[in-house]
Formats: sequence, structure tokens, C-alpha cells
Amino acid sequence: MNLEDGVSNLPKIGPFFARMFEKLGVRTIENLFYHVPSRYLDYSLVTTINKLRANEVVTIHAKIISIANIFSKKGIRMQIGSVEDATGKIMVVWFNQPFLIKTLYPGRLVSLSGKVGFFNRKLCINSPDYEILDSEEKETFHTGRFVPIYSETAGLSSKWIRTKIRDAFNFVSIDDYLPNDLLTKFGFVDFKEAIREVHFPKDLKEVEEGRGRLAFNELLNLQLKSEFRKLNWNKNKVKNKISVNSSAIQPFIASLPFDMTESQNKTIDEILKDLNRDIPMNRLLEGDVGSGKTVVAAVGAFASFLNGYQSLIMAPTQILANQHYQTLKKLFSPFGIGISLITSDTRLHSPGAKATGGQVFVGTHSLIHSKVNFDKVAFVVIDEQHRFGVEQRTHLVKKTGTPHVLTMTATPIPRTIALTSYGDLDLSILKEMPKGRQKINTWVVPETKRERACEWIESRILNFDTQAFWVCPLIEESKSETMKDIKNVTSEYKLLASRFNKQRVGLLHGRLKVKQKDEILENFRSGKIDILVSTPVVEVGIDIPNATIMVVEAAERFGLAQLHQLRGRVGRGAKQSYCLLFSNFHSGTAYRRLKAMEKSQSGFELAELDLKIRGPGEIFGTAQSGFPELKVASWSDIELIKTAKDVARDIIKNLNKYPRLVSRLKIGN
Ligand code: ADP
Ligand code: MG
Repeated sequence: MNLEDGVSNLPKIGPFFARMFEKLGVRTIENLFYHVPSRYLDYSLVTTINKLRANEVVTIHAKIISIANIFSKKGIRMQIGSVEDATGKIMVVWFNQPFLIKTLYPGRLVSLSGKVGFFNRKLCINSPDYEILDSEEKETFHTGRFVPIYSETAGLSSKWIRTKIRDAFNFVSIDDYLPNDLLTKFGFVDFKEAIREVHFPKDLKEVEEGRGRLAFNELLNLQLKSEFRKLNWNKNKVKNKISVNSSAIQPFIASLPFDMTESQNKTIDEILKDLNRDIPMNRLLEGDVGSGKTVVAAVGAFASFLNGYQSLIMAPTQILANQHYQTLKKLFSPFGIGISLITSDTRLHSPGAKATGGQVFVGTHSLIHSKVNFDKVAFVVIDEQHRFGVEQRTHLVKKTGTPHVLTMTATPIPRTIALTSYGDLDLSILKEMPKGRQKINTWVVPETKRERACEWIESRILNFDTQAFWVCPLIEESKSETMKDIKNVTSEYKLLASRFNKQRVGLLHGRLKVKQKDEILENFRSGKIDILVSTPVVEVGIDIPNATIMVVEAAERFGLAQLHQLRGRVGRGAKQSYCLLFSNFHSGTAYRRLKAMEKSQSGFELAELDLKIRGPGEIFGTAQSGFPELKVASWSDIELIKTAKDVARDIIKNLNKYPRLVSRLKIGN
């Protein structure tokens, strides 16, 4: 049996248990080894009955003298037994395990591990773990040693998982795929030894050593995959070669109503350099909400246009695609660049859509299936890249003949994650905001102050002629809205509409028809709506400068990065902006997370904080595709991440020395 084989190859794992394992994220035997214990019980003190002291955790080997099911005075079902060894007798009690008397009948030799306590003022062992000692001599496994405890899922006990891991360990050939000199250099133990140390340790020192190796493997695997992707990407050659003429691009930049920030200029330089090459660009542009990524992308599209080629800009929602379309139409029309919008609901609407050269196409994932001839694409932009599945991105890139690709994200990706998961991409960062942006005053608002907050909002809207977003969370964690969410936001909308009867309140959610959505957004944009109640659909990209108040209901349900994005919807104009986070939490991590929003205006800072408190799933949202969960390693272990990166680079340079690794990479696990 091999590491790559499914767990159902192990003895006594049928489809039922295989499914249970699947729920734990365990498909292969290798996955099983990476299902590391969440903690250990120290049952290693093996002693005799005459030496037992109260409160000690011990193991004894003894014979059952008697055992019976009884009811306590309070009516709890108990199993009371008595056991003896050569030195004495002691009582044993369990609770609510009536079936025990079938296994632990008088005369049986057992190993018992547990805490010594009192029952009816007499010394006893309390609810011990047990293991039958068979006549044949063998070492105890669930008692009498360091015993691993696994995170369990319904139906899979630690004891059972332990046994399966032992089976796997005994049946599977586990050769190390890293050479000895490398292991020695970094002080890692052999792979098989690491598995033993983590799952069957003698002490906690072994656990640490073993975990170190497994963590390294995990990170190395990610790094290798990204280095491998990079290697493969760099084998591509662009079909539609751009030749960048900076002075021809200047008029476009000069036509913008503002000066570029320093970061924007630097990033534009990086992009233009990439565009000038034969190897397609594969660059990630990271910049906080409102940092001005769109015009940077537009410069790339302009360069492509000057060379007579097409550009595609893919956005995750119709609202955003439409907004990009409107923005770019304004920027591009003075230069005679044709621009078209392609979404599932809009038929291609543009006069020059059939022309092939020099066009810009803005759209949603509908671009992927579009019938337009994309033969002349030289530049593809993927906005809010983490919103797309890996396949969707790959699909669009392949369909257009692997042109230059710029992916953009407002998600502040912590450095360790950028190094690991996006190691194959070149990185550009927009560090500063355009001039004149002000701090958005942020307050966590408890339920008791809700009405006062509403009064304040009301007067603000009246006296400052401004508008407010009012965001309700999704009820269940999922990628899109369910009917429950629609009901929830609709009833919230009704409440607010009657509370704010002097204001015009609008409702926006994902299940509305595109026409309705457009109309509502247009009404909000033109000031016909004062308060826009919505699900988190507004999170992505909407640009309405007159809106200066962002209210978030049940704010603790959002990740900090997401809250930061929501907050980024305001503060886009000249007026002072505000973010009110409604929450009923007054203490604990949820509360502290929200308070961090009051203090910090930096998406990066907030993301790093959430990474520490809640893990990476929260930064990207739960259902985000392509983002790996670490089972053993930790995102805060920057040293190990760097080591893994160096080793991965070295390996990729000398692939012929690592045939087993290469075959693993091809398998793609
Ligand atoms: P994001 O990075 O979130 O996609 P946008 O590209 O939507 O940000 O830009 C936000 C707003 O800032 C837009 O209205 C845009 O016109 C404006 N903007 C972009 N760059 C600058 C700049 N250098 N100076 C002033 N405003 C800018
Ligand atoms: Mg944007």
C-alpha cells in the first residue's frame, strides 16, 4: 500500500467510514498521517495499586473481580467494579456505559488509565480508559503511554482513529522522498520516524520533533506546487506580442483627472516591463479598497490597444462589471477605444463589438463562455481574483491563448500566505492611498445604543445631504445568498423603512433581476435613495462617493478583512465618513476583533490580526477556492515558510535528482 492510496484500502474501512474520514478532510493514507492529534493524554505512569494517590493520572494492570450496573442516588446509571493486582484492590467507576459489563467481566486482565479519585469516600479510579490484556504478550496501545487524542467527528472516536493510523503505519511503505543530506542540514527527522513521533510518541519532545517535520512537508508541498506552476507558466510564449511605447501611453495617463500615486507609478512600470516581454505576465496586484487599481489595469489595456490587441477585464459580479464598464468607457472613449460589456444578462451591447482589434471587453465569468472571437487578446485582468475558482481563471487564460495576466485583489494577503500560496505570481502592491482620503470614523455600537445611533444617522442624512449603506450578514456561511438570507434582509428592510419613515429606504440583494439591481443602484447613485439595505453584495467594488455612512448588522459575523472592505465603500468623497458596527458582543475575541476596527484603518494590519485570531479561512471567506488549509504547520511560522521556499526553489532547479517528488507533483496532491 502507498501513501497516495485511499483510506478505504485499510482493513475494516468501508464506504461509511470512508465518508466519515472525508468529512475530516482525510481521503488518502497520507492525509490520515497528517490528521495530527489535537492533544495527548499522559498515561505513561504505570504503577501498582498500593502506590495510588488521589488526583494522580496513572495506569495499572489488574484483574476484574466484580462489575455491575447500578443507579446512583440521583438516578445516574453507573458501572461499579473492583479490580486487583498483586499489591491490592481498588474500586473503578464509570458513568453511563452499561455495555461495559459485557467486555469487562470478572477474571479479565485489563490495563486501566485514568485519574485516581474518591467514591463514597474510598479511593477509586474514575472513568478510566481501558484495554484488554490478551494472553499473548504485546505492548499496550490505548493506555500506559502517551495517548493521542484526535479531533473527532460524529461516529469516529479517538480510539478508533488511533487504531486505523496504527494499521496504516504498519501496512504502508513510507519512504522518505527527501535526501538525507537535506534532512541533516535542516535538522529534520526521517518522514516515517516523524509520523511515529506524532502519533505514537514516547514524550512531548518527540511530538514536537515529529510535528516540525510534518509541518515542513506541508509547507514544502505548497511551495513546490507554486514553483512548479511558475516553471510551467514560464514555458509559455505570448501569441500577440506587445511592444510598449511609453511616450504613446503618456497621453492616456495625462488625460486622467488626477495624478497617479507613487505606488501606482511604480506598479505601472512593473506592468509595462512585463508587457514588453515574450513570456506572459503573471502578476498579482494587491491594493487596499480605493487604492486605485482600476486605472493601473486601464493603462495595461491601453498599451494593448495601441498594439491593436484586445483586452479582457473579468469582475466577480454584474454590478462591478457594469461599474468598470462605465468607468472605462469614460476613460477610453476620447481615444476611440471600443468597449463592450459581457454578462449573463446583458447581451453584448456595444456598437463595435464585432470588430476584433483594439477592443476592451468588460464582463463577469460570462466572458469565459462568450462566443466573441478572442483571437487577438493580449491582456487579461481578473479583478477580485479570490472570488473566482481556480478553474474559471485557468479557463479564461487558456481560452485566450495564455496572454499577459494581471490579477487584482483588495484582500490584504498576509506576507506568509503570499509567499506560500501565491509564490508563482509576481507581486505588486499599492501601498498608499490617493491623496486627500480621510480616516473613516468607526464605532462599535451595542444594542442599547441602537436607537441613539439611528437618530444620529437620521440627522446626518438630513443635515449633510448624505447617504448610508446598511449591510445585513448572511445567515449561513455560504458563497451566495440563500432564500433565508433574502427573507432576513427583506424583513430588516421593512423594519428600517418604518423606522426611517422620513428617508427613502431601498433594498438590494443578489436574487433581484439585473434590471432591478441596476435601477436600485442608479437610484442610490443619483440620490433618490437615502439608505440602501443590502446583503454583503455591496462588498465588492461599488463606488458611490456621496454615501458616507456604512452600517453593518451583527458585525461579529464578518471577518475583519471583509468588514474593512465594507467600510471601504464609504470615505470616497470629500465629506467625513463613518462606519457603525452593530454588535451585541461585549467581551471576548469577537469584541476585541471589532474594537480593532475602531483603531486600525489598514487592511493589512487587520488581516494579520484576523489571521492570528481566526485563521486564514476568515480572511478569504470560508468557501473561497484555491486557498489551502494548513493541518500541521502554522501561518505564523515565517522561518519555516522561508526554509520551505528555499528548499523548493533548490529542488525545482534539480528536478532530475528527485524523481519521486516529481511524480508526486504530477499527481497533484
Ligand atoms: P480599487 O483599488 O478599490 O479598485 P478604484 O480603482 O475603484 O479602487 O479607485 C477608487 C477611486 O479612486 C476611483 O474613484 C478612482 O477614480 C480614484 N483614484 C484612483 N487613483 C487615484 C489617484 N491617484 N488620485 C485620486 N483618485 C484616484
Ligand atoms: Mg476595484
